[in-house]
Amino acid sequence: MQLFFWQSVIHTNQPKTIMAAYPTDAHSPDLEGLQLITSMVRDFAEKHIRPHVMDWDENQIFPVDTFKKLGELGLMGVLVPEQYGGAGLGYFEYVNVIVELAKVCGSIGLSVAAHNSLCTGHILTFGNENQKNKWLPKLASGEWIGAWGLTEANTGSDALNMNTTAVLQDEHYIINGSKNWITHGKSGNVAVVTARTGERGSASGVSAFVIEKGTPGFSHGKKENKLGMRASETTELIFDNCKIPRENLLGQEGGGFRQAMKVLDGGRISIAALALGIAKGAFQAAVKYSKERKQFGQPISNFQAIAFKLADMATEIEAAELLILNAASLKNRGEPVTKQSSMAKYYASEMAVKVATEAIQIFGGYGYTKDFPVEKYFRDAKLCTIGEGTSEIQKIIISREILR
Ligand SMILES: Cc1cc2nc3c(=O)[nH]c(=O)nc-3n(C[C@H](O)[C@H](O)[C@H](O)COP(=O)(O)OP(=O)(O)OC[C@H]3O[C@@H](n4cnc5c(N)ncnc54)[C@H](O)[C@@H]3O)c2cc1C
Repeated sequence: MQLFFWQSVIHTNQPKTIMAAYPTDAHSPDLEGLQLITSMVRDFAEKHIRPHVMDWDENQIFPVDTFKKLGELGLMGVLVPEQYGGAGLGYFEYVNVIVELAKVCGSIGLSVAAHNSLCTGHILTFGNENQKNKWLPKLASGEWIGAWGLTEANTGSDALNMNTTAVLQDEHYIINGSKNWITHGKSGNVAVVTARTGERGSASGVSAFVIEKGTPGFSHGKKENKLGMRASETTELIFDNCKIPRENLLGQEGGGFRQAMKVLDGGRISIAALALGIAKGAFQAAVKYSKERKQFGQPISNFQAIAFKLADMATEIEAAELLILNAASLKNRGEPVTKQSSMAKYYASEMAVKVATEAIQIFGGYGYTKDFPVEKYFRDAKLCTIGEGTSEIQKIIISREILR
């Protein structure tokens, strides 16, 4: 039953991207190219991800080999210019990649987003030529997986108050402290990590560093046993007199916090896309089920209560998609995007939780079991309202931008 359902979902209800309806300008995507990338990712996800989704989820398997394969397709360096071994694409393409992955598996979508936007994106945006040449080709090809460490056990939303320190001694920085909730903290080959080099609580008191796996004093701690996104590895990072060369500093000393905020401006577009993909996956499953499930001698989609749920879900999905495309368009143009990426992330993540919840309602009791996909969408969607800044923090950012 379960397998049949998964297989039949694949070939039905695949909505066309609404990108075609988006106003065209000099920064508009190449629609033909976009469709090609979208169908390539869709095919990959159906073939290499969907058959394993529940096994990876139940057993918390982080499928490293899948990321190598994604690397071969250019999906581990979507935004990285070709000169550094990347695909050299823009945010429209990137959004579609994450959406297509998340429609099938939120965990894979999350890991690809974190790798591309956070670790790789930080080095791409703030690294010097030597640093970009050293790390980007390995990250963009998927040979290496990247992690990004800002959050600590006691400083999540309040990241500026971080405890981890980096002290310059001769030509090395000595790093001490720990980071929590780090995606790919164990399997990552390299991490971009922020640490205090100045006054606590000062935006100029934080710097960002690249730290390779195997550096003495750098290790990982416990792996989190999570509600959702269970195939995306989340662990603690530990720094115990970890000594790294001075040339691993990204940008200027004291520039790390502002860099991190800029990295998150882009990252939030990818978390919004992740939420959108999860919502689309849940919606497609719900539409299909509502046409098949009969009660009182007719498909439940005949009941207005169910049809109106679908109408609300579809409307909110498209609203989120337009917010995401707006943010992607601004990002492609290099314009300020803080407010729009927060709006997209806030709206899309709350929408995904709502859509996944309604999808379970449409499935009734079956939706509450692991034989059907919607319970996983529901569990995965919740992360989107927390990671890369909670919904409450997004509202702080949006209102700050409005009132500035
Ligand atoms: C699966 C997963 C993967 C992650 N991956 C990474 C990663 O790769 N790298 C990384 O650095 N971090 C990562 N994180 C951390 C994530 O970014 C933080 O969990 C998030 O920023 C929230 O921090 P916190 O968990 O400490 O919650 P807290 O900051 O303790 O917040 C608790 C609650 O208080 C609210 N709150 C806090 N401050 C305010 C305020 N001023 N006003 C109103 N409400 C407030 C919050 O909105 C929330 O509801 C990940 C987290 C998860 C769950």
